[in-house]
Amino acid sequence: ELETRLELKSRDEMGALAEAINDLAVDLQRYRDTRQEFFANISHELRTPITYLEGYSRVVKDELYETDAEKNQYLDIIYEESVRLQHLVDDLFDLAKMEEGKITLVLEWVDLSELTEHAVRKVELKARVKNLSLLILKSGTASCVWADGKRMEQIVLNLLENAIRYTEHGGIKVYLLYEAAAVTLIVEDTGIGIPEDELPYIFERFYRVEKSRSRQFGGTGLGLSIVKKLVELQEGKIQVSSKAGEGTRFEIRFALQSGCGEGST
Ligand code: ADP
Repeated sequence: ELETRLELKSRDEMGALAEAINDLAVDLQRYRDTRQEFFANISHELRTPITYLEGYSRVVKDELYETDAEKNQYLDIIYEESVRLQHLVDDLFDLAKMEEGKITLVLEWVDLSELTEHAVRKVELKARVKNLSLLILKSGTASCVWADGKRMEQIVLNLLENAIRYTEHGGIKVYLLYEAAAVTLIVEDTGIGIPEDELPYIFERFYRVEKSRSRQFGGTGLGLSIVKKLVELQEGKIQVSSKAGEGTRFEIRFALQSGCGEGST
């Protein structure tokens, strides 16, 4: 015999129960909707590059081009779309692991200053191709954070790549501000910006400011949701401010630990 029957003593309780059940049903429906939307998004995101790959490989295979330059253009598209597909699969995998709480952080002393310089070197070429300046500015005494170095690099790279992706003129400044107990890393660009009413949503999975805009720029719509999760997993904070047409500024903040450099490196 189950002894978990709810005892209802009055009409009030009945009303409260009905309300609770209704709320639950609404939550469940919302959950179903977002799940469904999530999978619809994934299918769409996967289908798009695959369609390009199918189409353009056929064009090349059947020699449906007139010049070698044209053929090379098609091969470039095939290459870019393969890279996009690779990123998408990597991002989806990361996201799935994080949502299940199955991501394991490999904690170590991380020199954020060195890591940032390294990340900036990695994206330098992308900035140069677009004629954008890329600067690191530091203040305070450098210290370390106890974090996952690879994931930290993923965070910084992602913010830098977005900054370059969504900037056409001017450039990107990276600030590293060390205080006594915390460090703030700022990635600031002079790009297209994000309209104020869209700011609250940009950390959501697959959210894009103007859907077509972002695809043309080559993103997956997953980058920032991963960044936010990774920052929070490492007990950091992330903030964004932006002005459409002027630029965007992402700010991440982590606690600094003492004892850095002792023992493991
Ligand atoms: P994506 O892979 O499409 O860039 P993200 O999750 O990284 O996806 O970002 C979500 C959306 O936020 C982007 O599609 C873009 O519209 C906007 N966004 C992100 N970073 C910037 C930036 N630095 N400047 C302007 N818009 C940005």
